Amino acid sequence: MSAVKSFTIEIIASPQPTRTFRAALFDFDGTLSLVREGWQNVMTPYFCEVLAEVAEPARESAEDIERVVRDFVDKITGKQTIYQCIQLAEEVKARGGTPLDPLLYKKEYLRRLQERIQNRIEKLESGAAKPDDFVVPGGRRFLQILRDAGIKLYLASGTDECYVKREAELLQLTPFFDGGIYGAQDDYKTFSKALVIERLIKVNAIDGAELVGFGDGYVEIENVRDVGGYAVGVATNEANPGAGVDAWKRGRLLNAGASAIVPDFSEPERLFAFLSGKDQ
Ligand SMILES: [Mg+2]
Repeated sequence: MSAVKSFTIEIIASPQPTRTFRAALFDFDGTLSLVREGWQNVMTPYFCEVLAEVAEPARESAEDIERVVRDFVDKITGKQTIYQCIQLAEEVKARGGTPLDPLLYKKEYLRRLQERIQNRIEKLESGAAKPDDFVVPGGRRFLQILRDAGIKLYLASGTDECYVKREAELLQLTPFFDGGIYGAQDDYKTFSKALVIERLIKVNAIDGAELVGFGDGYVEIENVRDVGGYAVGVATNEANPGAGVDAWKRGRLLNAGASAIVPDFSEPERLFAFLSGKDQ
């Protein structure tokens, strides 16, 4: 399979040999789940539409607007969706417009995204698609290996918690996460990945260095690094899973401070051996 051939672990800094991981934190969309693949292609054009209404064409071309949108959408990826919508409202204001409540931007974005992913959800619900059709290659096996090693697993996502839980259920991933599944809350200030990390360190009485994190966005990589954990960037090629790293994601993950980059989990035993200091 091409997935196996294209699997490499790009090492920026190996885990210290003395380190034992006791907890692992996973991002969901793009890291384990492919259900929301392409969400950027829904958010970006929608946000561009909103800004084009208030921007002065003489000052800002459509390309300029798109650059602005892509940049802030990407920077905030991994945080809750509402923060991207709050930034959109700021950008509208900065151009002299009157923004809507960010919650309304979020609603409209989710409505459009739902259109795109509805048939995937239906296929999973009806059994026309298998859960692993929408799981990043090797993801299930890798979670099992971590659990077998006694590592406590946490899932934290910037997507609304009700959706994350439902989609984890459809992908049959729920039972792996003995630490819990966490997502965005209506009262958005009560949730962040940093908070999940802070609590899991406290509850399990572990050191930050005993945490390993996996994600395809800025936020989780930075948050894991901030507590001294080991951050693995998963540069999943979501449109073509198994085809090696997504070069654009890789660059972003390196900027965020990832200690290693993988394309997916298609060689789960090897990845685990590397993390355990047994194999490079
Ligand atoms: Mg993600």
